[in-house]
Parts: sequence; C-alpha cells; structure tokens
Amino acid sequence: MALIVHKYGGTSVGDPERIRSVAERVARVKRAGNDVVAVVSAMAGETDRLLQLAHKVSADPIPQHQDLLVSTGEQVTVGLLSLALESLGLASRGFLGSQVRIVTDERHGKARIKRIDAGRIRDALKKGEVAIIAGFQGVTEQGAITTIGRGGSDTSAVAIAAALKADVCEIFTDVAGVYTADPRIVEGARLLRRMTYEEMLELADSGAKVLHNRSVEIAARFRVPLVVRSSFDDGEGTEIVPEEESMEETLVSGISLDRKEAKVAIRHVPDRVDMPARIFRPLAEGDINVDMILMNVSKEGHTDVSFTVPKDDLKRAITIAEGVARELGAGKVEASADIAKIAVVGLGMRSHAGVAHTMFSALAKEGVGIQMISTSEIKVAMVIDIKYAELAVRILHDTFELGKGET
Ligand code: ADP
Ligand code: ASP
Ligand code: MG
Repeated sequence: MALIVHKYGGTSVGDPERIRSVAERVARVKRAGNDVVAVVSAMAGETDRLLQLAHKVSADPIPQHQDLLVSTGEQVTVGLLSLALESLGLASRGFLGSQVRIVTDERHGKARIKRIDAGRIRDALKKGEVAIIAGFQGVTEQGAITTIGRGGSDTSAVAIAAALKADVCEIFTDVAGVYTADPRIVEGARLLRRMTYEEMLELADSGAKVLHNRSVEIAARFRVPLVVRSSFDDGEGTEIVPEEESMEETLVSGISLDRKEAKVAIRHVPDRVDMPARIFRPLAEGDINVDMILMNVSKEGHTDVSFTVPKDDLKRAITIAEGVARELGAGKVEASADIAKIAVVGLGMRSHAGVAHTMFSALAKEGVGIQMISTSEIKVAMVIDIKYAELAVRILHDTFELGKGET
C-alpha cells in the first residue's frame, strides 16, 4: 500500500465527463489498496473568467479581494469530484486550503506556502476516505485567503506530498509528460521518460508551463518523487529524478518559451556607483521580480539599463522606473511587451562549450535578432521579438536535433 498524491489540472477536470473519468482513476488507485489525495485545479478557463469578472467591476482590483474571488474556481472542482466519487461508492472529504491549513505568507496573488498541517488529511485517510484538496490557495496566519500564483496547483500538490511524505506525486495534465519543447509548438517534440530536477527547474523557471516552478523547487528540496502524466490515458509519462539517477548528461534536454515577460529600458543613465542599487531597490520593494538585466559599460559617463519584468507588473515597473529616472537625471523610459524569452537547457552544458554560439548562429541565419542574453551553468536564455517566438523554438529544436533519439 502506498500514499499517492494526484494533481489534476484545468483541462483534466474541464467538464463533467472529464471529472467522472478522474473519479474513475482515483477509484481504481484507491481500490487497489492505496491512500489517495487528489489536488485539483479550477475547471479549464474558470480562473481566467473570474479574473475578467474582477476587471469588469474594478479598474485595478486589490489582490486581497481578488484572491477571495479567484480561489472559488478550485472549490467548484472539489465539490464536483467529491460528488463523482460518491456515485462510484467512494467516501471522500473535500478541503479548501484554509481547511487543511495550508499556511502562506501575505503576498496575495503570489503567496508562498510556509507550512501545511497534515493532521486533517491524515485523519481522513485513516478513515478510508479519499482527500480532495483545492489547489492554488492557502490562508494567512490571520485567516485571509491567498492564492499562490498562476499554475500554482502543481505547487500545492507537491507541497502536500512533501508534508505527507507521500510515496509519489503524480501531476496529471493534458499532454503525455514533459517533452523536449512544448508539443503544441513543435510538432516533432519528443516525450522524455526522465528529466532531472535541475533541468526541470530551469525549464519551469524559464516559462515551460507544464510544471509550476516552485513545485519543482519543493520536489527537489524534499526529494518528492514526481511524475508528469496524461489524464487522458495510461501512459507512464515523465519521471523527474535526482541527477545521480540520470544516466548521462544530455547537452540539450529541452527548450522553453515564455511570452509573459516585458522589457523596460532607461536611457542615458548617469553612471554612478550606486546607480544599479537605486534602480533595482524600489522594484524589489514593489515585489517586482526582475529577470534579465542588461547594462553596458558607460560611454562618457552615461549608459542604458534594460531589464525584464512579468507583463502583469509592467505598468507598475514603468511608474517606478520613471520615478528613478527623474531622481537620477536619466533620459526617457521605454517599454515593450512584444518580447519572448527562449531558454535552452541541458546538464551537458557544464562540460561542453559552444551551445550559445550554435544557438546564435542558427537564429542569425534565419534573421532572428537577439535583444538580451543570460546564462546559467546549464542554461542559455535570450529575449527576442515576440513575432519570432515559435519560429525560434522550432529552429533551435531542429538545430540541436531534439526530435531524434530515445524517449
Ligand atoms: P494543467 O492545466 O494540467 O496544469 P498546463 O496548461 O498548466 O496544464 O500545462 C500543460 C501545458 O504545458 C501543455 O498543454 C503544453 O502546451 C505546455 N508545455 C510547455 N512546455 C512543455 C513541455 N516541455 N512539455 C510538455 N508540455 C509543455
Ligand atoms: N487555476 C489556477 C490557474 O489557472 C491554478 C492552476 O490551474 O494551477 O492558474
Ligand atoms: Mg498548470
């Protein structure tokens, strides 16, 4: 007997028929003698619908109130799945984040999980019930409902699996597992049987939507066995494993695409030693997550500073940047939301040079210009014009021949 955490994403619970099929899967695993915890997302499109509603009644919805609204999507799924299990003769207990006590900090809309009281879940399991838990949400110490960021149900599931010391956390989604690139963009993308935590984290951080980045962080830290599988069939999916268990260091394992970033540039900034601190401090204080930064050596005492921020924070970032530019006596602030970030990730980059060069040449040959570059030990990321986004992913997938080889 094992303790198994399942997570079902939006498409997987998108209509009553899909919910019945999830209930059947849960019932099969339960009847095979396992303890089952199912963490669920809102039905496909529901979170977007709720966010649009918020914007219909408020020009600038405050995150506290918005959280109360958008967290309801998951509650609907918990209710429906409990009912579907009931009609299969299975007892279950449904939980909102606040009922489990998934305690988060107070950063509404992007809260972090601080701890999970596993007692009530264990209690339900001990009674032979299936525990069904609303993903994406938590509660502050003071009792306010929070959400943990778009796509966050993956993180809820992995954090719950870690708290319960579950034998495995299976993320059921609308593709067969983790591919070498988004299979909706690259037709020849290859399903990976295994991928390391390190590579998965870089891909998720760089925008590969298949797993929420913090879910991978938590899985790696607590060594939660993690599998990504399809909710539509019985394929084995992709296992996310520690590096020691991966057989070889692939040069390039995957490519990600992120269209949710925007770029801000402050022109003609007087180059003083405290200048970067003065620009980035107020952004940090505003809880704006700056990803890439580009700063040149100054020419005659002035330089341009560019950086990327999430599109959702662009308006605030521009206001902050304009304030700083005035204070520093800099030139104008320019912004563009029409950018995409592409990242190429692989453990083999540690020991092989030349990936960046190969990428840049392949893109240059097709006329795709590169605006910003950043690297880590196992990743090369760059910003390009959004109109080339999908083309660039396909070019790089071909260049590194990712469609070939064993799955
Ligand atoms: P869910 O609603 O189940 O959480 P998501 O839409 O959040 O599903 O994530 C699954 C989607 O991630 C897939 O439909 C696919 O388009 C996208 N995706 C992006 N990169 C990859 C990748 N490397 N492998 C698989 N899917 C990917
Ligand atoms: N329902 C939330 C979203 O759409 C969380 C999730 O699906 O993971 O972002
Ligand atoms: Mg998701």
